Amino acid sequence: MTPLPAVIRDGSLARCNTFGLSAVAAERWPVGSLDDLRAWRAASTGRRPIVLGGGSNVLFVAERIERPILHIQLRGRAVVDAAGDSVLVEAAAGESWHEFVLWSLEQGLSGLENLSLIPGTVGAAPVQNIGAYGVEITHTCEAVEVFDLEDGAFRWLSSAECAFGYRHSVFKRLPPDQQLITRVRFRLSRRFEPVLGYGELRAELARAGIEAPSARDVSNAVCAIRRRKLPDPAVIGNAGSFFKNPIVEPAVADRLIATHPDCPRFPGPEGRVKLAAGWLIERAGWKGHRRGAAGVHEAHALVLVNHGGASGAEIWQLAQDIRDDVAAKFGIRLEPEPRVITD
Ligand SMILES: Cc1cc2nc3c(=O)[nH]c(=O)nc-3n(C[C@H](O)[C@H](O)[C@H](O)COP(=O)(O)OP(=O)(O)OC[C@H]3O[C@@H](n4cnc5c(N)ncnc54)[C@H](O)[C@@H]3O)c2cc1C
Repeated sequence: MTPLPAVIRDGSLARCNTFGLSAVAAERWPVGSLDDLRAWRAASTGRRPIVLGGGSNVLFVAERIERPILHIQLRGRAVVDAAGDSVLVEAAAGESWHEFVLWSLEQGLSGLENLSLIPGTVGAAPVQNIGAYGVEITHTCEAVEVFDLEDGAFRWLSSAECAFGYRHSVFKRLPPDQQLITRVRFRLSRRFEPVLGYGELRAELARAGIEAPSARDVSNAVCAIRRRKLPDPAVIGNAGSFFKNPIVEPAVADRLIATHPDCPRFPGPEGRVKLAAGWLIERAGWKGHRRGAAGVHEAHALVLVNHGGASGAEIWQLAQDIRDDVAAKFGIRLEPEPRVITD
């Protein structure tokens, strides 16, 4: 029988989440192989675990997490099919997302460059269909392998079955933590077609004097912008954007714009309108707000921060107050982007 992975009992999660919250995990099981996973399931008491990758999109509200945490550390990446210009590659769930992007560029493949420097793991990327600078993984993700914690079977889901949407996928619709992602496949290209719809990205390339960028140039430009703009979790705890940009019916957007003509609006899916959550929060007066050690970043209204020593409950209370205030002022209900773990 395969031995169980070594469990870490009553350990701090401070280094396992980018908010730097020092919640305690009753049981954290590092999962380094598929055998670890099978062994854990065989020995499990039936209590549903929490699946954790890099912890860059979670908020631990509870001070102590009683449910077992499966900490995904599966490694490996490979070219699966290199015939032709379109190349199939795969990576195990515990690989660092950014390292995987850099590896794909080293193979001469493009498609992921705009998603450079997004924190976290490959396995979490499909969960919210990560996106940045006009690209989401739905554009290149071909299939996702899952381990069903209920029946113990491995299955491949096609991209269509993943039902990707804006910061959304089937994994957010299913009961949480039932389907553990073990591997992800991407269809990348040897022929580079830049996606440069974002003015900021074009400006960054122009500043560097690059007229006909390579995929590597685009990746470097994205990294430069992100390093300049986004707060580094190693310096100040955060989980990136805390709220999703709301997608509303055109009539709702029209009503808002009638009273706030400077409110930015963008085309959304299915004829709907995407509004800027950051604008709503800033206009409601929360940018730079600080309550104890919990706060709203002074340059980014969308980023909630831990100035040092905040609890998850304090950050969550601040988030709820912001959400209620924005709803009262603009009639728009914001939804958190990170997973909020309360038990
Ligand atoms: C500074 C900063 C900038 C960011 N910028 C962006 C951005 O530009 N675009 C963007 O989309 N996101 C962004 N994010 C959010 C975050 O990087 C992504 O959501 C990332 O995919 C989370 O990866 P993770 O491994 O840290 O996941 P975790 O935080 O560990 O988990 C997130 C969710 O995925 C689930 N999960 C994790 N691994 C698995 C698995 N193997 N199988 C099943 N479920 C799993 C967890 O249960 C949880 O529900 C940013 C975060 C930070 C801190």
